[in-house]
Amino acid sequence: MLGTGSPRPDLERSGPAQVLHINSNPILIDCGEGTTTQLLKANIPPENVNVLMFTHLHSDHFFGYGQFLLGGWGRGRRKLTVVGPKGIREFHETVINMYKDDIAYRVSLGRPENGVLDVKIIEFDQAGEIHVDIPAKVTAKEMVHNVPTFGYRFEIDDMVIVFSGDTAPTPNIVELAREADVLVLDAALSKTGVYRDTKDPELLKIWENLQKEHCTPEQAGNIAQEAGAKKLVMTHFLPNVIPEEVKEEAEGRFTGESIVAEDLMEIYI
Ligand SMILES: [Zn+2]
Ligand SMILES: [Zn+2]
Repeated sequence: MLGTGSPRPDLERSGPAQVLHINSNPILIDCGEGTTTQLLKANIPPENVNVLMFTHLHSDHFFGYGQFLLGGWGRGRRKLTVVGPKGIREFHETVINMYKDDIAYRVSLGRPENGVLDVKIIEFDQAGEIHVDIPAKVTAKEMVHNVPTFGYRFEIDDMVIVFSGDTAPTPNIVELAREADVLVLDAALSKTGVYRDTKDPELLKIWENLQKEHCTPEQAGNIAQEAGAKKLVMTHFLPNVIPEEVKEEAEGRFTGESIVAEDLMEIYI
């Protein structure tokens, strides 16, 4: 768990990002603000990450992309595949365009263009199997959020790891997470975050609308229970969330193991 935060900047929680390690293959899932430094803190050289999979194109999930792309290249990455829903190619090209003079300068210093100007983009707009060159079967399913958002299910031998991305409760996440060993799930809407006790009508309106976009820890517990998941890892927290209460909210619904993610937490299967 590289970053367990949300769009609100937070010293305790970096922007949303996870790394799935399959043996020595690190696969990055989302790339929020601070992802590259979080990789360094986790002792995962960013240049060794050759696959990045975006769940959706919300700023909190991609703020770290420029740094990851150019910083990893600067450290020697010569191959990168980026996977994501429709829009990912345009997003990538926009970033490249934004930094084209900078890239040209670095190429003029003698750095090869590979790894930055030849990034392989895999764009998809439908649920189903995604063919990525990694030692896992990858299936995507559409989540309920306000831009096209896909959760990913990774099957490695008989192990199953699922990342929801951002989502409100939906039968699709239950199906995607069926019998998962680990389900990493959006549980942004804990009552204990920054919206607690607010009387501010503007904040109350936002809080109400957020119910259509994310899960509460209680709903996360329901989803994990219904899916028959073994371990629920909750993430995407607002500042000042109280982990014990998040855990309690989920444990009321889920009989498996509930984990409230923290930055740099490692989960083994
Ligand atoms: Zn989102
Ligand atoms: Zn988000």
